[in-house]
This record gives sequence, structure tokens and C-alpha cells, in this order.
Amino acid sequence: MNRSQLVLASRNRGKLAEMRAFLTDLDVEVRGLDEFPGIPEIVEDGNTFRENGLIKARAVMGYTGLPALADDSGLEVDALGGRPGVYSARFAGKWATDEDNNRKLLSEVAGLSLLRGTLSGAVNLTARYRTVIVLAIPPGLYGSSAIEEIAEGVVEGEITLQPRGQGGFGYDPIFLVPSLGKTFAELSPEERQTYSHRFRALRELKPVLLRYFPSR
Ligand code: IMP
Repeated sequence: MNRSQLVLASRNRGKLAEMRAFLTDLDVEVRGLDEFPGIPEIVEDGNTFRENGLIKARAVMGYTGLPALADDSGLEVDALGGRPGVYSARFAGKWATDEDNNRKLLSEVAGLSLLRGTLSGAVNLTARYRTVIVLAIPPGLYGSSAIEEIAEGVVEGEITLQPRGQGGFGYDPIFLVPSLGKTFAELSPEERQTYSHRFRALRELKPVLLRYFPSR
């Protein structure tokens, strides 16, 4: 058993880089899922980000026998009843690109606007990004039971029907932060660190991580 290693339960390079950067002041060896090529595919069939985060963290902890950190995230659009939610990555289908997903989302929202235009007025465009991060520690490292710690980060915004910006990924060009007058694709790296749901969740988890892992 090893207290000084932590496996990140993701193969997404952007996320891995963000998480590694955030964890540099912990005295742990941060390992990526790519270092464990034999790990079976993890079926993320939970109904919430929390369930999916738990599924990923438990699977990776179980396979590697090491502490695992998993995140699950997505976009919730109020006018669509919280969709795409846990289906954010595959909103327009299993092999959908970011562009496919954005096009589908805009066409659904525009469809609602047309409908409302003939009924009762404007569509509510409020939306939020949400991330849940789960830390799973195997039994035997800190007492006889496994440990699970969960943190959540949210950023409120609005869907804009005119995509803007070149940065980021996913729904960023159509996710507007009204107080900044910018979409997520227009944020500077510093603004992203301040506003991003993922960084907010990581900041919430930091004191917990420091309880289990030494800092440099
Ligand atoms: P995952 O399950 O956490 O990998 O993320 C699911 C999907 O949510 C991603 O493929 C994106 O479509 C969307 N998403 C999550 N976080 C962000 C973000 O920070 N910007 C843009 N899209 C995001």
C-alpha cells in the first residue's frame, strides 16, 4: 500500500493537465490512467455527476489498489430541464464532436424560443457547469475501511445563441458568464482558474487532500 501515489481517473489530457497543475504542492506521485492499460472500460451509467464520479473513483481504486481522484462534469440548461447533464459529452450521439453537441443544444434552445415567441415570450437561457470530484482511498491506508470524499463546483451562466471565442472546449463558446460579458471560450487562463467549476471543486477538496497527503 502506498500513501504517496494518487491515480487520476481520466484520459482527457486537458483535464489531466489542469488537475496535475493543481496538485503540484502535494507530495504525491500523480499517475494517469494511461499507466494502467489493462483497466477494464468503466461504464458511467449513473444518473448524476456524483454517481458517475463515485463509479469512476471506485473502479480505479479497486483496480489499482491506490487512492483515486475522479471527476464528472457537464452543462445543465434550465429551459431543457437540466439537460444535457450527465449526457453532456454524448448529447448529439456516442461519437458526437463538440460542434455537434453545440449545434444540437442551440437548435433545441432556438426551437423553444420560436415556440415561446408564439406563446408567452422569452426563453430562460440560464445554465450552469457543474463538476463533482471524488477521492477514493482504499481500505488499509487510513484505517480498515475505504474512504470517500466528495467536492462540488458550480459556475452559473447563460446560453448565448451567438457562439464566441477560440479557447476552451466543449460548450465553452456558447456558455456566457454575464458578469464578465465573456463566454468561457474567451476567458484568460487566470479567469478560467477563478471561474471554472472544476477549479472550484478542486479548491473545495484541497483541505481534504491535505489531510491525507503531505504537502511539499
Ligand atoms: P466529463 O464527463 O467530465 O469528461 O465531461 C462531460 C462533458 O461536459 C464534456 O465532454 C463537455 O462537453 C462538457 N464539459 C464539462 N466541463 C466543461 C468545461 O469546462 N467546458 C466545456 N464543456 C465542458
